Amino acid sequence: MNKEELKKYLIDLGFNVDDQKMENIEDFIEKTLLTNEKFNLTAITDIDVFREKMVYDSALATKDLDLTNKKAIDIGTGAGFPGMIIYFLNPEVKMTLLDSTAKKINYLNEYAKERDYHLAFAIDRAEEYARKHIEKYDFAFARAVAPLNILLEIIMPLVKIDGYFIALKGSNADVELKEARNALKKLNSEVIEIKNYILPESKEERNILLIKKKGSTNKKYPRMYSEIKNSPL
Ligand code: SAM
Repeated sequence: MNKEELKKYLIDLGFNVDDQKMENIEDFIEKTLLTNEKFNLTAITDIDVFREKMVYDSALATKDLDLTNKKAIDIGTGAGFPGMIIYFLNPEVKMTLLDSTAKKINYLNEYAKERDYHLAFAIDRAEEYARKHIEKYDFAFARAVAPLNILLEIIMPLVKIDGYFIALKGSNADVELKEARNALKKLNSEVIEIKNYILPESKEERNILLIKKKGSTNKKYPRMYSEIKNSPL
């Protein structure tokens, strides 16, 4: 999709997208693609495909959500997806972008400073960070980081009671959900909505899972990553 089409699709989703916002998004796309060779930030290098599968895809995560003054975190943000796009579309959000790879976070931090964007950054393993920031976030997001049962243990401790984890998933969301039933129960969490989308050009399927934290998380979670991975909940 070209720039004009992206703008139209974002407006169709209900976002308020003026020329300045669109310029900021386009600048970020160009910067990401230019920096890609150095940092290996993304596998998608065609700008038209990038707009659909990185930007529009990320935007789906916050359709109809009010993030004004809410504390949010993007776990495993990589080159800034979905976190940067969520910030562009919801500038009143208090967004933290976290990744364990220092070079990715340093690059994003530098970019945000140059443009005076109000974003926070963390270089850490998500499970370590979660132990230090228990129940601090209204919303947590993650895209292409790990299967749902693993993500839940890492992410739900960070989320406030009555807060949400928004998982950006593809066409295998139902399989991941089945495998995450036990984790949801153990972590006092419930899937309250699954929003199904078909991307407008590639026609690929996307599923946005809204997972609500209903009660506090047992202090034994998250376990060490090796344990989480070897025996997921
Ligand atoms: N979310 C981005 C996207 O959709 O383009 C990046 C996806 S990339 C495939 C996965 C990212 O998650 C990598 O940048 C990796 O460093 C990060 N990651 C994986 N496990 C993590 C963990 N336990 N804590 C922090 N970051 C993690």
